Amino acid sequence: MSREVKKIPELFGSCVFNERTMRKYVKEKYFQEWKKCLSDGKPLTLEVADGIAEGMKQWALENGATHFTHWFQPLTGITAEKHDSFISPSDNGRIIMEFSGKELIQGEPDASSFPTGGLRATFEARGYTAWDPTSYAFIKDNVLCIPTAFCSYGGEALDKKTPLLRSMEALNRQGLRVLRLFGNNDVTAVKTTVGPEQEYFLIDKSVYEKRKDVMYTGRTLFGAQPPKGQELDDHYYGTIKPRVAAFMEELDEELWKLGVLAKTEHNEVAPAQHELAPIYTTTNIAADHNQITMELMQKLARKYDMVCLLHEKPFAGVNGSGKHNNWSMTTDTGLNLLEPGETPYENAQFLLMLCAVLQAVDDYQDMLRISVASAANDHRLGAAEAPPAIISVFLGEELEGIVDSIVNDTGYTEKSKSTLRIGVDVLPPIPRDTTDRNRTSPVAFTGNKFEFRMPGSSQSIAGPTTVLNTIIADSLCVFADELEKASDFTSALHELIKRTFKEHGRILFGGNGYDESWVAEAEKRGLKNLKNSSTALPEYMLPKNIELLTKYGVYTESEIIARNEIHMEHYCKVIAIEGETLVDMVQHGILNAVSEYTAALSETLIKKRKALPEVPCRVESALIGTLSSLNESLLDKMVSLKSALETAPSVGSAELMKYYHDEVFLKMEDMRAVIDKLETLTATEYWPYPSYYDMLFSV
Ligand code: ADP
Ligand code: MG
Repeated sequence: MSREVKKIPELFGSCVFNERTMRKYVKEKYFQEWKKCLSDGKPLTLEVADGIAEGMKQWALENGATHFTHWFQPLTGITAEKHDSFISPSDNGRIIMEFSGKELIQGEPDASSFPTGGLRATFEARGYTAWDPTSYAFIKDNVLCIPTAFCSYGGEALDKKTPLLRSMEALNRQGLRVLRLFGNNDVTAVKTTVGPEQEYFLIDKSVYEKRKDVMYTGRTLFGAQPPKGQELDDHYYGTIKPRVAAFMEELDEELWKLGVLAKTEHNEVAPAQHELAPIYTTTNIAADHNQITMELMQKLARKYDMVCLLHEKPFAGVNGSGKHNNWSMTTDTGLNLLEPGETPYENAQFLLMLCAVLQAVDDYQDMLRISVASAANDHRLGAAEAPPAIISVFLGEELEGIVDSIVNDTGYTEKSKSTLRIGVDVLPPIPRDTTDRNRTSPVAFTGNKFEFRMPGSSQSIAGPTTVLNTIIADSLCVFADELEKASDFTSALHELIKRTFKEHGRILFGGNGYDESWVAEAEKRGLKNLKNSSTALPEYMLPKNIELLTKYGVYTESEIIARNEIHMEHYCKVIAIEGETLVDMVQHGILNAVSEYTAALSETLIKKRKALPEVPCRVESALIGTLSSLNESLLDKMVSLKSALETAPSVGSAELMKYYHDEVFLKMEDMRAVIDKLETLTATEYWPYPSYYDMLFSV
């Protein structure tokens, strides 16, 4: 069937107030001022803002917008918007459509219900939103959305975007220092780029609505394994079903209209699992675009009577969903700093960038781990499907060979046995090995970028990306400090690269990260193994981490304290909701269903015994026995879970997290084992909830 031919280049960005559109709608003078503000990193004057707002309004009205909103990313991890219409009263009871520069650049939402971790006193409930002029405004559902940063009255960041912008600035500054040393004087900006691969599940709406756990918590709290799961690997890259294909087609189109570079769509490993990857872009834009992508996925799925599950682990026993963050650094002259160069000198620069990443990842393993820690992601990390909770870097054989040869002062190839001196002797061309398929590594070099594979599918990429930017900015700063002082740059550089590879070599690991032996090996190397959120999150407050984040102005100390509080509180709330939901489903569904089925079996048993006294009726009596005792045990476990939920102590957040993990989460796991057994033993028509099979093969 031929689909309607749509002109994609015209479609692309048609709902975005981008440069092309701005040129058309904004007076040249204001347009140039805006460009200048961007390149100088200066705020817009009110006059310029008014000029832009006027053009933006005209464009928005022509494109059907009736309202505008400051679109921001509070610490809930999702986006927030409050709509204001353009209308303003005029003479004779009429209205005009108004939108001022002040309304464009600043908003004042009463944001007292967003999490602040105590940053905003209740007497000062106002929050401020400020336009991020590097991110274009767009129209979504007839609303003009202005991407903004969100902060408190005192200027503290209450969102995920502000720290991300600050971290980009930190890396820009330090990156430029290093590039100057290499004589790269034409570069005026270093940007970080990210391309997040987004995984998700699609299930039919009708089964979704029968599972309170999926509705309330995003994941199944129980469910026996179906006879067929992902064993055959027949879903991965498989043919896309018509309903899903139609959904993906519309999703692509909607994303393109919004300027999102949606590129690849395919089926993933698990049944009902899919992936969308965009083309990479600057990190703050990529973070905005990923939020839009997640929002649209959820909205559009409904249109096709499906529900999009973004949870990291909707189903036990089949793969969970992650978000691979492909990260790199690019100059405004178009140079990818993680691309091996053509000449030895370029390669020396590349190797220094590599050193920056290795040092950063090694020194701040905890920060990276924390940036992806959540109750939901705990189900993935370390569960032999996603990277382990231990952080390591994979470089690939060729590059590791080069690192080894530098550390040991040996020639890299058979031919060049001479001692490697970067920039002096000829370093062999670094092979562009883009064939990495070590899927078990949390931080893998993939030819010209690093792929950070730990982020969860539902989380904003702003957090992990902020950490990547900041820790690598720190390495670059330390390197620049040392190299700027050197009298002989080349030999100082050689020493530095060699020393860094040597000191941080322990973070390199090319083996199978799922293997048990890696845990022991990593421990021997002194690498951290922060198995779950309740052990990882408290490390956020280590002095070295606070020092790092405040040094580059990415967070103030009070912002760090606030965020830590919010993350820990969030963890507890998630587990509490899961616990409550499980109690509810057991109490109102399972206990009763099993009891009814047992009663029916008993009736059959009585009848059979009467009719056929010589038959032992082993099936019925064994089933009745097993079901009854399992159901009794489930009742006890439920009562114990309920009481654990009711008697949660009032202690500090770290202790409370431990409580929720040990007393609530583990009890739920224990209950699940019983429930799954009950499900396999209970006749289908009695079981009150859709099975794994019903859900995984529902579309
Ligand atoms: P695959 O991992 O399937 O081989 P690619 O490596 O081509 O696919 O790309 C995966 C993701 O990495 C895409 O989102 C792509 O845009 C992104 N990517 C490619 N180059 C860079 C880069 N220099 N910086 C950040 N992301 C990048
Ligand atoms: Mg990839």
